[in-house]
Amino acid sequence: MNKIDPKLAMEVAGIRNAIKRSNRTDYVTTYTESEFFNGKTTVERVLILRTRGCSWSYHSGCSMCGYWDDTNPEIGRGELDDQIRTFLKEFPKGEVLKIFTSGSFFDPVEIDPALQFSIIENVLKSYSHLIVESRPEYIKKVIGKLKEYRGRVQVAIGLESTDPYVLKNSINKNYDFDDFKEAASLLRENGISVRTYLLLKPPFMTEKEAINDSIKSARDLAPYSDFISINPMNIQRGTLVERMYREGNYRPPWLWSVVAVLQALRDLDVPVVSLITAAGKRRGAHNGHDCDKRFSEGIRKYSETHNYAYLDELSCECKDTWENFSEVEEEVGVAMDEVILDD
Ligand SMILES: [Zn+2]
Repeated sequence: MNKIDPKLAMEVAGIRNAIKRSNRTDYVTTYTESEFFNGKTTVERVLILRTRGCSWSYHSGCSMCGYWDDTNPEIGRGELDDQIRTFLKEFPKGEVLKIFTSGSFFDPVEIDPALQFSIIENVLKSYSHLIVESRPEYIKKVIGKLKEYRGRVQVAIGLESTDPYVLKNSINKNYDFDDFKEAASLLRENGISVRTYLLLKPPFMTEKEAINDSIKSARDLAPYSDFISINPMNIQRGTLVERMYREGNYRPPWLWSVVAVLQALRDLDVPVVSLITAAGKRRGAHNGHDCDKRFSEGIRKYSETHNYAYLDELSCECKDTWENFSEVEEEVGVAMDEVILDD
């Protein structure tokens, strides 16, 4: 049998990364996705820019974030300018454009402040809406200018949870619910809508704790947000969560749990969707059963239409396994990988 030499595999990965990182003037990727946006199903274009990355990741970083993999510390204004110019030549117009940076669009170290606004200006010449992501600490500085684009820009903030203990100990987020409230209020007072991401199942939490945390967080933050996106954990390379996963101390959430969270929030005035990365795969939310594809599709369709019928029709015999898993985990009192259940 052929065995892969781990040393060789690492070398190959290193070379591949070096090649990838040398492409400073190429954006990371672009693709489209559908979502329930502004009250209807909308096809949105996503652009991921290659930047120097999140400033917080240079200091410490979040436990689940492996986005630095797409970054290059040497990228400055000129390279970003090239990436945007190339993209707008290829995809000159559309309805909604999401620009993600593996960090914060409004971080002045990551994107030069003058460039931030020239990008917004240029994009909004031919796209009706722009969605960008930012940590809350950068909002105060840009709001004076940003409000000129009221009604056309949405800022997404990755709050992940409203629980201070979870934010500090499970995620290492380095901001809290109060910081979020301040930034979100400022944005909304100035006509800029706010989308909030919640992380379903940060590390060190049982399945039940994770479900309850996302439900409670969504209810807490709903008054400060126009749109809520539940992001189930996906295991990214080189992260603390990946190490725990390899050691058998972490399992991404069940798709059942995603459905449970969405169903529990159906009375909320704010739309709640869930776009799942690696849905049905071992590194993403999964039931570990042959219903994975059906569940992933159902949740996706719901997220595109906000029609609960797609969630209501999801049923499977593995519901018992999920419930047993959650109960055993509660009894043990710590988060488990599913392997323990196989005994
Ligand atoms: Zn099943």
